[in-house]
Amino acid sequence: FRVPDVVNEPMMSYAPGSTERRKLQAALAKMRAKMPFEVPVVINGEKFFTKDIQKQSLPFDHKSTLATFHNASKDLVQKAIDGALKAKPIWEALPFNDRAAIFLKAADLLTNKYRYHVLAATMLGQGKNAWQAEIDAAAELADFWRFNTQYATEIYAQQPTKNAALTWNRMEYRALEGFVVAYSPFNFTAIGGNLVGAPALMGNVCIWKPSPTGIYSSYLVYEILKEAGLPDGVIQFVPGDAVAVTDVTFEHPEFAGFHFTGSTQVFKHLWQKIGNNINKYKSYPRIVGETGGKNMHFLHKSADAKHAAIQTVRSSFEYNGQKCSACSRVYVSDNLWEEYKAALISEIKKIKQGPVDDFTNFMSSVINRPSFDKIKGYLDDIRNGKTPNSSILIGGKYDDSVGYTIEPTVVLATDPKAKTMVDELFGPVVTVYVYPADKYEEYLEIADGTSAYGLTCALFAQDRNAVVIGSNKLRNAAGNFYINDKSTGAVVGQQAFGGSRASGTNDKAGSSL
Ligand code: GLU
Repeated sequence: FRVPDVVNEPMMSYAPGSTERRKLQAALAKMRAKMPFEVPVVINGEKFFTKDIQKQSLPFDHKSTLATFHNASKDLVQKAIDGALKAKPIWEALPFNDRAAIFLKAADLLTNKYRYHVLAATMLGQGKNAWQAEIDAAAELADFWRFNTQYATEIYAQQPTKNAALTWNRMEYRALEGFVVAYSPFNFTAIGGNLVGAPALMGNVCIWKPSPTGIYSSYLVYEILKEAGLPDGVIQFVPGDAVAVTDVTFEHPEFAGFHFTGSTQVFKHLWQKIGNNINKYKSYPRIVGETGGKNMHFLHKSADAKHAAIQTVRSSFEYNGQKCSACSRVYVSDNLWEEYKAALISEIKKIKQGPVDDFTNFMSSVINRPSFDKIKGYLDDIRNGKTPNSSILIGGKYDDSVGYTIEPTVVLATDPKAKTMVDELFGPVVTVYVYPADKYEEYLEIADGTSAYGLTCALFAQDRNAVVIGSNKLRNAAGNFYINDKSTGAVVGQQAFGGSRASGTNDKAGSSL
């Protein structure tokens, strides 16, 4: 068995009248008719139903419940660790090909048998439209599982090239001694599948704490892995209170790795918690995180203003601005401002917002009440003049009567260091600053120094010197740097994804790096 060469999963168009659109609509209708679903804790393949029950509601229709789920008690978390450590010797001893076959099979099950089902769960539970769900829960997840098998082969293939006489050197790639804890976010179904999939492929065992707001699609991902042949105990599905899960896992001597995607604040806090326990561990835990961003689009005076405006609308408002990579600050050269502004406004006016099962809606609602309240308060402060040097150019309204809905909003800043150019909101709000065309380099420097984050950046320029200067200046301001393209939408195997600075430990998802 040789791991087959892989290609990116082709994306479906969901064009009006297409078979795939009909199938997806049928899956949505079926899911709506059957919800709510019950999601258990799963340890060693056994389902546990606890007394701590919570629900996942539809972001754009918060009175409806997609799933109820059971949070693990501390005892169950302990049981999950014990079971994982018991499963480990056999799992890590399996030939790599046998482990790889499970993930390749899972990718095929996902894209053939369960595509519409997992898409429907991602759409209803996380508020994605069909296309956003397709690039995530079908394409990216299958790509992660498939491409990881290639990257693993590349890693295993690296062997010493020099041997002294009568010596044979061999490099052995072992799983970590202990277990890995994975924390997955709500905003990409694919990320959860990768946070557990990548370590497990390399022979590790994982305790997976999925996000409560992405719980149902995460559970489906887990079930697909099981159907593909994943042995019991290798990945333990443990929804739970974050404090309870970390209290137990981070105290354990065999805690060996932490694989995280989520907010910078939570990551730093958990890193500190790990640090406080450092003397308890057998090995130094490997900590890998992808965290927040205040991603920028930067327009040089030679940029195509209309193209840049369309890319900004896509980056800032697709999936309601809830991609870590979403653009949330823009620097526009003043010669382009009128054209850029007109294009921005005209594109935003075309945006339809509402339930995801109406395929004409480009946006829906933000994920939950805390997120809605945070953004609402922020917009109120701007409107009431409490936030200096910032005003609302378009949008700014909100409505939580049915869903947690925030209009696509553009804020105008008159100070490049205004609070609105600095704070990450994780919603459909982008702040624009207009700078003097002849001060490109000065403003590149200001942009570079304005945010602690460094996830993604997009530079728009047609002048090649400006591209070189801008790319050099902003080199460390982003892990993923785009030229004349939006800051979102990294594709596995093409644009390895991960941030610098406060945006991540710089390990790149979708590559062997
Ligand atoms: N990889 C995604 C993109 O490039 C973003 C992932 C995230 O939001 O964490 O848009």
